[in-house]
Amino acid sequence: MPPKALLSTIHKEVSWQQALSDVITDYSELLEMLQLDHQQAPHALMAENEFPLRVPRPFAERMEPGNWQDPLLQQVLPLGKELDYQPGFQQDPLQEKASNPLPGLIHKYQSRVLMVVSGGCAIHCRYCFRRHFPYADNNPGRQQWQAALDYIRGNIEINEVIYSGGDPLVASDKLLADLTREIATIEHVKTLRIHSRLPVVIPQRINDQCLNWLTATRLRPVLVIHSNHANEIDEAVGFRLKMLANQGVTVLNQTVLLAGINDEPEILAKLSERLLDFQTLPYYLHLLDRVQGAAHFDVSEQKAVAITRQLLTLLPGYLVPRLVKEVPEAKSKLPIAVF
Ligand SMILES: *Cc1c(COP(=O)(O)O)cnc(C)c1O
Ligand code: SF4
Repeated sequence: MPPKALLSTIHKEVSWQQALSDVITDYSELLEMLQLDHQQAPHALMAENEFPLRVPRPFAERMEPGNWQDPLLQQVLPLGKELDYQPGFQQDPLQEKASNPLPGLIHKYQSRVLMVVSGGCAIHCRYCFRRHFPYADNNPGRQQWQAALDYIRGNIEINEVIYSGGDPLVASDKLLADLTREIATIEHVKTLRIHSRLPVVIPQRINDQCLNWLTATRLRPVLVIHSNHANEIDEAVGFRLKMLANQGVTVLNQTVLLAGINDEPEILAKLSERLLDFQTLPYYLHLLDRVQGAAHFDVSEQKAVAITRQLLTLLPGYLVPRLVKEVPEAKSKLPIAVF
């Protein structure tokens, strides 16, 4: 049982569907909530753009009022400098369009396949490499599942199906339960993995219905959440992470290394320790994908290596995430040598 105070906050929570439809999309509202005067913004803000502001309220509530440098705020606030053209930063840095055998399926690595289950995300992270991805063509829906399932059935080297997006947990439990049941009929698939930021940004998404389909089949359930800073993991998030672990779900976290947000060893160490409090282990520490509009978040590989070396002195080995980068032609994420 969670402590009493926590139970009462959980009972006050709105449903995840409500939280998902009632997101903040207007930066004036966000700034007002944080008691920030936009006239005093350290950078030009950007009102209209192709990847608009989008912040779920439970996430915004974890931001520190009065702090322009808040690490959560910086991840979501659209800045004018996103429009500066940066050589070497591209629209589709991972060239995923080329590994897209069917709409909604990305098969780049031999044993595992990504299924784009939902095009949308609850939150818009400014650094996201998917900000220019053609979601409209990749939101297959039920009628196109059959082709994707046939593809997986016909490729016996695929032993893991990864629900991805967008954010796959934006989809309904009914849809996810039906799809998971279908996948479980494919004998060579052993593991079901979900990559989602929803357990962090709208923690009430992890409810009984969700746990039901996650654990209802013979597939081994793995959930990879995405958190970049310990301030993202409040008690409500922690409570849901523990629920998952208690149901036998392996929970891992991936982090993107972001300038001005988490590019210090102490900040990353705190995140790992916070995750462990809730039975979640770090998985990858990603170098930023070089997507146009995100250059101001870039941390050099050299600095990333220096940070990781220090992390190794601060933490036990199991709390040090693997530093990796993505290279378009590569057959896996590429580990970066730290020594
Ligand atoms: C990251 C990724 C995966 C999963 O890679 P792991 O190293 O197994 O975590 C699978 N397919 C694609 C296209 C990916 O980008
Ligand atoms: S795919 Fe992940 S990183 Fe990108 S906007 Fe959605 S939640 Fe954020």
